[in-house]
Amino acid sequence: MSQAAPAKQPIVPRPESIPPELKAIAKVELHQHVDGSIPVSVTWGLMQQHGLAPVATEAEMRRLLVLQREEEGTGLLKYLDKFHYPLWVTQFWDNIADVAYSIAKEAYEEGVRILEIRYAPIIHVYAGLTPRQAIVSLLEGLNRAENDFEGLTCGVIVIAMRHMGPHIAKIVARQAIAESQMLHSRVGVVGFDIAGAERGNPPKLFKQAFDIARRGGLGLTAHAGEDMGPEAVWQAVDELGVQRIGHGCSAIRDKDLLRRLARDQVLIEVCQTSNYQTAAVKPGERHPVYTFLEHGVPVAICTDNTTVSDTSQLNENALLAPHLSTAEIAGIHDRARAHSFIPSDRRRL
Ligand SMILES: [Zn+2]
Repeated sequence: MSQAAPAKQPIVPRPESIPPELKAIAKVELHQHVDGSIPVSVTWGLMQQHGLAPVATEAEMRRLLVLQREEEGTGLLKYLDKFHYPLWVTQFWDNIADVAYSIAKEAYEEGVRILEIRYAPIIHVYAGLTPRQAIVSLLEGLNRAENDFEGLTCGVIVIAMRHMGPHIAKIVARQAIAESQMLHSRVGVVGFDIAGAERGNPPKLFKQAFDIARRGGLGLTAHAGEDMGPEAVWQAVDELGVQRIGHGCSAIRDKDLLRRLARDQVLIEVCQTSNYQTAAVKPGERHPVYTFLEHGVPVAICTDNTTVSDTSQLNENALLAPHLSTAEIAGIHDRARAHSFIPSDRRRL
């Protein structure tokens, strides 16, 4: 019997199709960045409105905003490069509100009903907004989305950028608390996170910032174990006291850590496409999400960056579909809801 040569393993798995039954699941998105999720047409429109023309066409703009196939699997820094251009336009109140709305609209259309989006206000102040204004403008867009999309509940996670160091992180934590959910009747800040290049900026440096955020009543999560080993995840759990971890891929290399995450029900915010793109997971390797599930570690199915990663909430669900039943996927979303930082009395799902 003759067999065709196996096709070269693609770096990033893509679902062949989206099973229609996935559309009906009420989804919980707990890890999505504003800057990496603005629809290309929205960024392009705002660039034009502001007389900015880094490139001549929307198609060329797309190449700058979306990780290209030849750039996949080349590491976290290449991935982070895609975040510069949206910052040209997300320095102004109305633009920030509008991009937040457009992201929430896309998520809603994919069946997301609990949406936590995250954002580093300190990199949205170059045109004169204060960090507080950079947060409130985002809340305004999400309030508008909650009004327009029945059953959607939103919350904001404020990010401190690791490369700016622990002292700026403490300032950012205080700004986040000033707009915390408990001070708002509608959308507010529900969580605190650190993001950016992991190497050289281990979680333990940010302990005081997380202590401030905790005392201010915010939920705690940290990007960890994406570019560094399990020690980064241990630190995030032991020293920062996080309830959730962003990515956490390297945790599967440490059985004791898996037991700890399961025992304390620390949820992993899983971003499959992004993990292959940044080489947090190697091509052809089984995604760590299955190991987490096998060990009783709670997970959420997340997009990370719908634009940079060229993915969507439905796409991330469809990646699981060959291995998990629709009921199992729905169950993941059900359990993830309990780990949302949005207070349950605000949720409409
Ligand atoms: Zn992330």
